[in-house]
Amino acid sequence: DVKHEPLPIRRLQESLINRIAAGEIIHRPASALKELLENCLDAGATSIRVTVKDGGMKLLQIQDNGCGIRKADLPILAERFTTSKLSTFSDLSRIRTYGFRGEALASISHVARLSVVTKTKTETCAWRAHYLDGALVEPKPGQTAEPKPCAGNDGTTIVIEDLFYNTPTRLSALRSASDEYSRILDVITKYAVHNPKVAFSCKKVGSPSPDLTTPSSSEVKQAIRLLYGHSIAKDLLHATIEDKNKNKSRDEDDAETRESWTAEAHYTNANYQSKKMVFLLFINHRLVESSRMKRALEAAYSGVLPKGASPFIYLSLQINPRDVDVNVHPTKKEVHFLNEDEITNQISDSLQKSLASQSQSRVFEYQT
Ligand code: ADP
Ligand code: MG
Repeated sequence: DVKHEPLPIRRLQESLINRIAAGEIIHRPASALKELLENCLDAGATSIRVTVKDGGMKLLQIQDNGCGIRKADLPILAERFTTSKLSTFSDLSRIRTYGFRGEALASISHVARLSVVTKTKTETCAWRAHYLDGALVEPKPGQTAEPKPCAGNDGTTIVIEDLFYNTPTRLSALRSASDEYSRILDVITKYAVHNPKVAFSCKKVGSPSPDLTTPSSSEVKQAIRLLYGHSIAKDLLHATIEDKNKNKSRDEDDAETRESWTAEAHYTNANYQSKKMVFLLFINHRLVESSRMKRALEAAYSGVLPKGASPFIYLSLQINPRDVDVNVHPTKKEVHFLNEDEITNQISDSLQKSLASQSQSRVFEYQT
């Protein structure tokens, strides 16, 4: 066993570092879109329109009617760690916005061509700017990189073109355009269920009609009917679940770790059966994944659904932001929170009871 000589350690080039970091946040068109959607919602938009070409690989455009970006902020917009949402470390424990790290636009600018048209209420015209590798760039050789005045409505339009043009392996790892497009639709669908007051639409470039559209000022149930269909909506139950230990007297130590939480659940009853479980999980309004929670909730149906049949569940869980660590995963897809097991058990118990009593009453109905 001959040891070879150690190789010298070198600093990676800045551009390579940025590209690697960007790849951790932006996996595919749908993950870029998720970041952009969250920015629109953070900006208070009530209308969000998405336009897609080639599954988002060629073009991903997202237009909102939110607060817009101040012209003075445009030069640093796509720099890493520039944000209007977080300024001190203690803010991190009170996060109420989706964004906080100022990494999304920066990352996108390292793996795609990024451009922005934005107008705040007080500005008299909109401003257009182009970015590459974190900085303003001239849109065409010989032109200036400075933002240019243009016509535009209040709000922001972000355009991403040629995603992963400079990371060919990432590009080749993507699925077909239609597969990427359905992932995009899936993300928008889920946010549209969770934000029924906001009007969403999504269409392909050149297509006359949108593939997805929701009205503004709707309700969760209507949104589910519209987006997931009548067969789910007609068999939907609704529950508000609260921490059952919330008002229990507790000693000082316990008060430190136990925080109350609430959950809103819309879930199908025993009449609905699907081959694959549809599970929408939002924790503090953020779309996340938890295979643990998913398994536990699916198990709550084992008494009422035949083997191999699965439910639809939309769960919106609200926990004190102090108890959630949103910063564990680059895409913020996975979050950690205190008392995860207990919260999961309580919710799953509550669904199970409600399902059992519902199918009981069904039995009585048949008997009478
Ligand atoms: P973060 O959301 O973590 O702050 P981003 O890179 O996603 O980081 O965005 C950087 C900043 O750009 C945001 O803090 C916000 O001020 C501004 N911004 C991005 N998108 C929008 C938008 N659609 N409307 C208004 N401001 C936006
Ligand atoms: Mg953001």
